[in-house]
Amino acid sequence: MTTTEQRLAAIRGGVPARRHNARTIAALTGNPGCTRRAVLDGAGVDKPRLAERIGFPARFGQSRFAISRGNAFEAQVKADGGAELLRLVAERLGVSPGGVPTWTDLNADGLTQRHERSRELLTAADDDASPALFDHPLLSLEIAGQRVYLEPDLVAARLAGRYHVVEIKSFPVVDGQADPGKVAAAAIQSAVYVLALRELLAAAGHDPELVSADVVLICPRDFANQPVASLVDVRRQLLVLRRQLARMDRLDALLARVPEDFTADPTAEPAALVAALGAVEAHYAPDCLAACELAFFCRHEARGHTAALGRPVREALGGVADVAEALALADGDHPGEPDQAEAAALLRAAARLRAEALAGRPT
Ligand code: SF4
Repeated sequence: MTTTEQRLAAIRGGVPARRHNARTIAALTGNPGCTRRAVLDGAGVDKPRLAERIGFPARFGQSRFAISRGNAFEAQVKADGGAELLRLVAERLGVSPGGVPTWTDLNADGLTQRHERSRELLTAADDDASPALFDHPLLSLEIAGQRVYLEPDLVAARLAGRYHVVEIKSFPVVDGQADPGKVAAAAIQSAVYVLALRELLAAAGHDPELVSADVVLICPRDFANQPVASLVDVRRQLLVLRRQLARMDRLDALLARVPEDFTADPTAEPAALVAALGAVEAHYAPDCLAACELAFFCRHEARGHTAALGRPVREALGGVADVAEALALADGDHPGEPDQAEAAALLRAAARLRAEALAGRPT
C-alpha cells in the first residue's frame, strides 16, 4: 500500500513537483469536475512538457518580448524602495501614505524559510501603523487536501492598518479601459492571494478581514510606461473560489478513481502516456484552451462529442452525446430515444431554420 505522496511522486516520474501559482489555482477551480487535471496538478506534473511529449504542445503564454517588457515595467514601478508604488496605491485607496514605507523583498530565501519569514512578518503586530510593502511573500493554500505553495507574484501592501494585494500587470489601460478578459483573469488570481493571505492571518489569530477585498492592479497607461493604479473588488471571485475549492474532492479520493499504475512521467513513451491519460476521466470544454496546457490533446480526444462544443451546447443537447447522433436527429434519420425527444425537436427546428436561411426563403 503506497502513501498518497509516493503515488504522486510516481505519477510525475520522480522529478520535483512543479509549484502552483495563482493562475493555475484559478484555472483549477474553473473546471473542478476534471479528474485528469486535478490529479496532474495535484501531483505537480510538468504539464507543458507532458503536452509537448504527446505531440500537443500548449500554445499560450507570453512572448519573450512581452515578458521582458513586463519585467522592465515591474522594476520601474518597484524602484526606490516602492516609493512610487506606495504613492499610487495610497492615492487610489484615498488614504494618506503616512511616512516612508519599509520595503521587504521575501524572494531571496529557500521555500520553507521564505514561507516562515512571510508568515512572521505579515502576522507581526503593527504598532506604529507605518506603511509596509512586502514583495514576493510566499503564501499557501489547501487544495484538494494538500497544502500547496503559491508562486509569489504579488506585493502585499500594509496601509492604514489593512492589507491590500497589489499586482503589477503588463496589459495596458487605454482611455481608462483595459481588456475585460485580462482584468477578469487578474481578478480571480488576486482573489487567490487574498484568500491565502486571509488564511495566514486567521491561523495567527488575527482578523482575516484585515485583508481587503479591494485589490490594486497597476498597469501601464495608454501603451506608455506610465503606471496607473485601478481598484478591483474581488468579493464575488472570493465566493466562487471558496465554493469551488470546497467542491473539489480530496486528492486521495481522486486517486482512487485513477489506475494504480497511472503515470504522466514526461520521459515515458508518448503512446504509453496517451493511453495512460485516456484512462483518467476528463471534462473538456472550450474554456480549457485558455486555461490548461493539455487543452489541445483533450480537444482532439473529445472530437465528435457534443460536450466539446461548450456548456450551452451540452445543456441544450442533454442526452445526445455524439455529434453524429445529433446530426442524425436533426435530419430526422434517427427517431431518438424517448428521453431525447426535446433535444431532437430542437435539432430539427434548427435544421429547418438553417435550410430556410441558406435557401433565402421559408421552406
Ligand atoms: S484541458 Fe483536459 S485536463 Fe485540462 S482541464 Fe480541460 S479536460 Fe481537463
